[in-house]
Amino acid sequence: MQQINGLSYAQVEELVKACGQPAYRAGQLFGWLHQKRAAAFEDMKNLPKAFREQLAARGTIAKVTIEKKLVSQLDGTVKYLFSLPDGETVECVVMRYKHGLSICLSTQVGCKMGCSFCASTLAGYVRDLTAAEILDQIYTAADDLGERIGNIVLMGIGEPLDNYQNVLDFIRLVTDSRGMDLSPRHITLSTCGIVPGILKLADEGLPITLSISLHAPNDALRDQLMPVNRKYRIHQVLAACRQFEQKTGRRISFEYTLIDGVNDSRDCARQLADLCRGLMCHVNLIPVNKVQETGYTQSHQVSQFQAWLQDRGVNATVRRTLGQDISAACGQLRRQSLQQ
Ligand code: SF4
Repeated sequence: MQQINGLSYAQVEELVKACGQPAYRAGQLFGWLHQKRAAAFEDMKNLPKAFREQLAARGTIAKVTIEKKLVSQLDGTVKYLFSLPDGETVECVVMRYKHGLSICLSTQVGCKMGCSFCASTLAGYVRDLTAAEILDQIYTAADDLGERIGNIVLMGIGEPLDNYQNVLDFIRLVTDSRGMDLSPRHITLSTCGIVPGILKLADEGLPITLSISLHAPNDALRDQLMPVNRKYRIHQVLAACRQFEQKTGRRISFEYTLIDGVNDSRDCARQLADLCRGLMCHVNLIPVNKVQETGYTQSHQVSQFQAWLQDRGVNATVRRTLGQDISAACGQLRRQSLQQ
């Protein structure tokens, strides 16, 4: 059965036509799904009963359910463990910034990429999320909090470009002016460096922010931290970034997790600055999250590393650590729940 809340407006129009209904019903149905966020067809009171029954026979409304909710006493960060219609679970985090709420969404159940510092990959990959399941994480969190969420980061569990079509369908849906109407400029997609996906994304004409999880300034070190690097080397990732920048006019963001004694030396900062040369980019330094199984610890020269980069003309900031008291790092809550 198709997930009707994952259909584009054009697909909803086709569905309405196939059900023998007048064209204006498409707007009504889309409004029920994406403005009123109805959970059931029978709630759509201005649609004829026969049409509602046709919809229920043809498809479902895929909703996520809150299994667990943790609220940070330190900074108000909220972390959800959501269950999907088939019982699988994913995580989602809502962060409070001066400019409003930002949500970090999961795109897959588990992850295939095997990054050595990440809890999301430890239990392996299970399946991709559908466009509707990605979207409903926002609707459920916004309804639960009673607040508007204005920024999206695709940086939760999973590699978004390994679930390309569903992620693209989601972005088109969330930016549709007849639905949530979010500006693409308020969406950041984070990838570990899937080169064909970056090139394809560059051709979509979407002015979203591309964020690359870089974490190492040379191939030898990146091979150790991120197995994906054995397939797509740093120079290939950077060439794809250049194309993205040229086609979209958007600045690239590099994520760099600082791990004590691994990638936080002065020489690493110098190599990283060399990689950034000639590219319109920004480096986001992240103090590593403690994951019991990885054995990595936080670098104690985060500010120094930032200064080394800035001395070489690189625009670098340190990401504020949010939700430390609720294990807000990606994959940790789901992992605890699987272990239980
Ligand atoms: S960091 Fe991202 S790509 Fe790497 S294993 Fe974790 S979820 Fe997957």
